[in-house]
Amino acid sequence: ALDCEPLKPLVRTVPDFPKPGILFYDITTLLKDRIGFAQLIDALAAHYIGKDIDLVLGIEARGFIFGPALAYRLNAGFVPVRKPRKLPAPVARVTYDLEYGTDSLEIHLDAVEPGQKVIIVDDLLATGGTMEATVKLVQQLGGHIAGLGFAVELDFLKGRDKFKDYDVFSLLHYN
Ligand code: 5GP
Repeated sequence: ALDCEPLKPLVRTVPDFPKPGILFYDITTLLKDRIGFAQLIDALAAHYIGKDIDLVLGIEARGFIFGPALAYRLNAGFVPVRKPRKLPAPVARVTYDLEYGTDSLEIHLDAVEPGQKVIIVDDLLATGGTMEATVKLVQQLGGHIAGLGFAVELDFLKGRDKFKDYDVFSLLHYN
C-alpha cells in the first residue's frame, strides 16, 4: 500500500464548522495540491485495481469530486447518488436519520444492473449513516458491493462498525 501519511498536513481542520463544537476536516486544501490530488487518486485506485470494478458510485456532493477521477483510473463507469429530486429518470430512494430530522438519497433505477461489481466512495466516514443509506440503495438494485472507499475516516466515531460485511478502505485516519 502507498504511504499516505505525507498527505495528512494537506487536510485542513476548521473549528466550529458547520456549527459550534464541530471540528470539520476540509479536503479542499488536499484537492488543490497537484501532487496531493494525484496521490489521493493513485492510492485509492491501488486498492481496487485488479478487482474488476464495473462502477464507482459517488455520494453527493464531495463524493462527486474524486469518484469520477477514480472511475477513470479503474476503467469503470461513474454513477451519482444524489439528494432528492435532482435525478431526471425513475429512482430508488432511501431516507435516513440525521442528528436533527431526516435526509434522503436517490439513485437512478437503471444505474446499477444486478450483479455488477460496484464500489461506493465519499470524502469522509464519520458515523457511517450516509454510507449505510447508500448501501441500502445498491442492495435494492441488486448490485454487488465490492468496497466502500473514503479519503478520510474519523476512527473515534466507529462508523466502520456498521459495515462488518464489507471491505472498508480509508486513506487517512484521525483519532
Ligand atoms: P456520516 O454520515 O458518516 O456521519 O457523515 C459523513 C458525511 O458527512 C459525508 O458525506 C461527509 O461528506 C460529511 N461530513 C461529515 N463531517 C465531515 C467533515 O468533518 N469533513 C467533511 N469533508 N465532510 C464531512
